[in-house]
This record gives sequence, structure tokens and C-alpha cells, in this order.
Amino acid sequence: MITLATNNLHKLQEFQDLLGTSLRSLRDVPGAPDVVEDGETFEANAVKKAQALADLTGDWTLADDSGLEVDALGGAPGVHSARFAGEHGNDAANNRLLLQKLEQTANRAARFVCVLALCHPKERPLIFRGECEGRIALTPSGSAGFGYDPLFIPQGRESSFATLGPDVKQAISHRARALELLLANAKAREVLHRS
Ligand code: IMP
Repeated sequence: MITLATNNLHKLQEFQDLLGTSLRSLRDVPGAPDVVEDGETFEANAVKKAQALADLTGDWTLADDSGLEVDALGGAPGVHSARFAGEHGNDAANNRLLLQKLEQTANRAARFVCVLALCHPKERPLIFRGECEGRIALTPSGSAGFGYDPLFIPQGRESSFATLGPDVKQAISHRARALELLLANAKAREVLHRS
């Protein structure tokens, strides 16, 4: 079974649903290293996480790094999305800070980005980037999903991901797009199906 280098159970669930198969998470790997996500790009962080675990387990490992890029903020919060307001994973505080920073801003264009890295101790990393364009709402709405979902309205829609729910998100999210690209790659497909 492939290991997904994450402790985030929301992400694990979304990837399992998208792939239609079970994945191990970091919680299932005793002694898994606590990798510091200090890269300047989603790619650097995803490879760092997957490679550390691949080196530990000796096998192929999948990791993702994801976040929100807001045009009016020069691409922030970007790789700092999980800790935008200071405390790692405090979604409510992150959403409050984002709204505050955009208070006087008409340009609400934004995108979710997901970079997937499939790594092996002895092979070149395979890297895939999925993006989902949209805009930041004026107020939060909905209760599905996680993170910035209550504030993110995907292109062509009028409601947030948190209102639209998992079926819509599975169809068009940055994570779905990255996985689509991964599954279109013969080598990556072989690795996933062999595991
Ligand atoms: P990571 O765990 O380092 O990839 O951090 C991802 C952070 O980006 C999360 O904590 C969220 O704040 C944000 N994020 C990434 N993907 C999503 C999503 O699908 N919905 C909402 N927020 C997301």
C-alpha cells in the first residue's frame, strides 16, 4: 500500500476517495520523521516530505503540498497557507486574517494549488501540479471541507467549496487535477497499481 506523507486526515480522505483505494498515512509509519516544510515552493516541500519517507521505508512514497495563492497579496499565503495567522492549522484564524487583508480590495482572484511528489530512494521524483482557479468571497459560508473552503468560490460557481460539498470539490479541485495528471503518467500509474 502506498504511503501518503501527511498527518492531515482530510487530505488523506480526499486522496483515497479520488483514487478509490486505501493509503497509509504518516500515522501508520512508526518513527516517521517530522519534516520541516521550509521550502519556498510547493514543489520543494512536496519532494522533501515524500523523499524523507521514501528513504525511511525504502519504497515509493506520495506527498502533497498545497495552499492558496491570492493575486492581490502577491501570491500569499502560498506555501505558508496552513500557518498564515501564526498557529499551524488554525483555519478560523487564517480565514479571518485573509478577509481582513482583502477588506479594501476589489481584486479577489485566487487559486488553490496542489503539488504531488512521488518519490523513491533511488529514482528521480515524479512531480505533478494541479490548480483550481476561483475568487475569495466577502464572507465565509458552508461547513464542508477544511481550511479556506468557506471562503473559496471556484470559477463558474456562486458558492464556496464548503457550501458546494465534496462531490463538486472532488470533480474540480486542485487535488483532483494533480491526481489526474499523476494518473496520466505511465510510470506513476505503474507504481500506484503495483503497491
Ligand atoms: P499543507 O498541509 O502544508 O499542504 O498546507 C495546506 C494548507 O493550505 C491547509 O492547511 C489549508 O489552509 C490550505 N489548503 C490546501 N488545500 C485546501 C483545500 O482543499 N481547501 C481549503 N484549504 C486548503
